[in-house]
Amino acid sequence: MLRCNMSYYISNEPAPGVGSHKRTVMRMTGRAMRQSRLVLVTAWVFAAAATVFRPAGAQTPFTIQRIADGEYAHFGQVALTSPENRGDIANVGIVIGRDAAAVIDTGGSVAVGQAALAALRQITAKPLRYVINTHEHPDHLFGNAAFAGLGATFVGHHNLPASLREHGSFYLHSFRELLGEAEIARVRLIPPTLLVNDTMALDLGGRTLLLTALHQAAHTDCDLTVLDEQTRTLFAGDLVFMDHVPVIDGSLKGWLDALPRLAAMNAERVVPGHGLKVAPWPAALDDERRYLLAVQADARRLIASGTPLADAVPHIGESEQAHWRLFGDYNPRNATAAFSELEWE
Ligand SMILES: [Zn+2]
Repeated sequence: MLRCNMSYYISNEPAPGVGSHKRTVMRMTGRAMRQSRLVLVTAWVFAAAATVFRPAGAQTPFTIQRIADGEYAHFGQVALTSPENRGDIANVGIVIGRDAAAVIDTGGSVAVGQAALAALRQITAKPLRYVINTHEHPDHLFGNAAFAGLGATFVGHHNLPASLREHGSFYLHSFRELLGEAEIARVRLIPPTLLVNDTMALDLGGRTLLLTALHQAAHTDCDLTVLDEQTRTLFAGDLVFMDHVPVIDGSLKGWLDALPRLAAMNAERVVPGHGLKVAPWPAALDDERRYLLAVQADARRLIASGTPLADAVPHIGESEQAHWRLFGDYNPRNATAAFSELEWE
């Protein structure tokens, strides 16, 4: 049974630089979902004249934006997980082929996963063949349980099962307060059964997703990208942050090493793991690269001058503050991680 307080909208407004002016708006409340009533509003809308219906009681709209034919993205908020946003802070992708669909990341709670699944079901009746997790972080896979029991295969980096075994109970514990008792109680950690060692092509029927597993630690040690070869849209997971300050939970040097290979991917545009836009590729990497290089340069300079960690941290990456949201929430952690990694060079 679906329980969800979210409404959602599916927008056919094209992503920047991608197309037409057709827009379809649909929405569903949790109450409506519980009562199996669907309110559907379809309209041809030009420019910003969409009539958006927000049902009484709906707290958080769940919006799906059409990127290209059979390709959609939901943009999570640029925010920290809270009971109010129910972990809806990361981006979710949907790709539909001739025969089947795939979802790329499942959101930060079962409620978000259910909203994404409900949106998918409004777009297509084709079976969901693959649930792809781009990495281990809760905001990208706590929604997995919403997609269990549908016959879909869960797919991830070959390190992801071990990462979940190692960190899963910590995630469940630390997100208990962030998400709230009721939401965390519904989360199940579902590891992938189809593992990507290097690259893997997934067929959706006349449409191939090319999955690439990073060989070294970067954002995490289980980062996976998904390229829709038909449209050359790259779903980059958290190897690409926009707006939201990057978070280093793997290796700063590994991430910087990976950037040229990421940039060389045959993509035209990217859906980042965090950030409210589809962006041209590889220009979308520019801000992130500048941030990571600044953190690296500051850390190296302060280490070389013998500055203790505690004195160094406030100055590592400080020139980047104005460029990013959630800077104060994550930059000190990044600075600490960078200092620790680089002091043994
Ligand atoms: Zn992440």
